[in-house]
Amino acid sequence: MARYTGPVCKLCRREKTKLFLKGTRCESPKCPIEKGRPPPGEHGRTRVRESEYLLQLREKQKAKRFYGILEKQFRGYYAEAARSKGVTGEELMRICESRLDNVVYRSGLAMNRPMARQFVSHGHFEVNGRKVNIPSYRVRPGDTVAVRGRSRKMGRIIENTSYAEGREIPDWLSSNLRDMTVEVRALPERTQIDVPVQEQLIVEYYSK
Ligand code: SF4
Repeated sequence: MARYTGPVCKLCRREKTKLFLKGTRCESPKCPIEKGRPPPGEHGRTRVRESEYLLQLREKQKAKRFYGILEKQFRGYYAEAARSKGVTGEELMRICESRLDNVVYRSGLAMNRPMARQFVSHGHFEVNGRKVNIPSYRVRPGDTVAVRGRSRKMGRIIENTSYAEGREIPDWLSSNLRDMTVEVRALPERTQIDVPVQEQLIVEYYSK
């Protein structure tokens, strides 16, 4: 299960936006984006002519990095979205949102998506009573995601639930933090996905 293991703040600096990959640090003044740090690399401060292709590429990279997905899998999601009957860009976002690691993050049981991914791959979660340790597992309406028996006593998960009490949980999920369970009411509409990505540019990128 391949994943990016390099420095994550660098990714935010490259995309010039907060990708929220580091928990509380992302909300603090220590965040390099808050400090106005430039994109990485020797030419980070150089003004680049923003071609149409560059905008499409950056939008695609941003979406992948928000969800922690590598190119091959993301391209597969695009192909699936393009085959579906709905609007391709919206379907693509819906597929990304329905990943189990994203649901764990959205429900407040993890502080960021990398942490959610680690919890899932370490076997701390179950779906409908069955252990699932695949972060890319896709939930369906009616599914119940829960922290597994012994993992309920894990300090980090308990800490997250108290941190999440002030966080807004999207309407398509029904999260019971005390019980450490979350029910998937429905898959989200695009308006319920607060990821600042222009998916149409991603569709244009892949449909060339
Ligand atoms: Fe991105 Fe968080 Fe690092 Fe800020 S602190 S650059 S939001 S990962």
